Amino acid sequence: ALSIGIVGLPNVGKSTLFTALTKKGGLAANYPFATIDPNVGIVDVPDARLHELAKIVQPKRILPATVEFVDIAGLVKGANEGEGLGNQFLANIRETDAICEVVRYFKDPDVVHVDGRVDPASDAETIMTELVLADIQTLEKQVPKLEKEARRDRALGNKLDLARRLIAWLNEGNRAAALEMSAEERACAREFFLLTMKPMLYVANVDEDALGEELTPIAGVPPIPICAKVEAELSELEPHEAAEYLADLGLEHSGLETLAQAAYRLLGLQSYFTAGEQEVRAWTVRQGATAPEAAGVIHTDFQRGFIKAEVISYDDYVELGGEQGARAAGKLRMEGKDYVMVDGDVVHFRFNV
Ligand code: GDP
Repeated sequence: ALSIGIVGLPNVGKSTLFTALTKKGGLAANYPFATIDPNVGIVDVPDARLHELAKIVQPKRILPATVEFVDIAGLVKGANEGEGLGNQFLANIRETDAICEVVRYFKDPDVVHVDGRVDPASDAETIMTELVLADIQTLEKQVPKLEKEARRDRALGNKLDLARRLIAWLNEGNRAAALEMSAEERACAREFFLLTMKPMLYVANVDEDALGEELTPIAGVPPIPICAKVEAELSELEPHEAAEYLADLGLEHSGLETLAQAAYRLLGLQSYFTAGEQEVRAWTVRQGATAPEAAGVIHTDFQRGFIKAEVISYDDYVELGGEQGARAAGKLRMEGKDYVMVDGDVVHFRFNV
């Protein structure tokens, strides 16, 4: 699943949000393992199309795409204090596709702000500095090893040069992602697992009565408003109660779901669907993925043995009342290995085993 690391200053509401994430409530009901690792929470990506497909197919279950949130709060703290980090913890961070910073907007005077005032832009800068420092540390740890290996292997010389260039760039207070790099260098830089190489999104933890208000952008990006307190309350409710509560607030989705959707967009992802009696399910691919790549998301065997894809566009599928109707109307297409997936395609893969 798509995975996102959560960071933020102390007292901004990360734990509150995380508790909401790892409680069952109405969220991600299909994931019994979601609560085993206290550092990981899973949220469904809401997609109304799944319900339209389900009306036609009447499946036993609906499986939406999911986003996994990983609490990496300890990372920033650890980097600062030079503490060693556990292997599992490091693995969690490496696997994250993006970083989400929780920024305090709620005013509550009873909750102390670490710097004594609520100032989102300045808080975001503080955290960015921490992420940059963590990356410098990551790189500096790898340099001695690279120096040794580069004596034997020329290719590693380039990697070493890149590491040094990145260190200098980060030392000027820049994000790694902003360094001008060739496609090859960028791929190489990814092997360092730097935090500031990852796309960044901001969550504004606002007061409940400020949920509808427009927010000042952070680093040029509009933050996604969430009220951690509301999310915590939602996570305690049964799904139908949660829906009612949201409706009272004038919202359709929980803040966590909205966040999951935003992350999906930020990362240039899209969905395709499989629809059968057992389940209607959304699968995640990057925009521009080919049919075999999409098949590989279900199973690597599907990709390896890919023959063709039977594709019906989402609109055709719904308009024509499902596969039979689409087939009769000539709207079921046979697509080969060069086909580029379109968001919402309803697909059957044919493959050799
Ligand atoms: P963390 O240090 O970032 O993990 O922050 P916590 O989740 O522990 O929250 C710090 C304090 O702020 C706690 O007392 C929370 O109850 C409170 N808090 C968190 N979110 C909200 C919110 O949306 N509104 C208000 N009023 N208080 C909040």
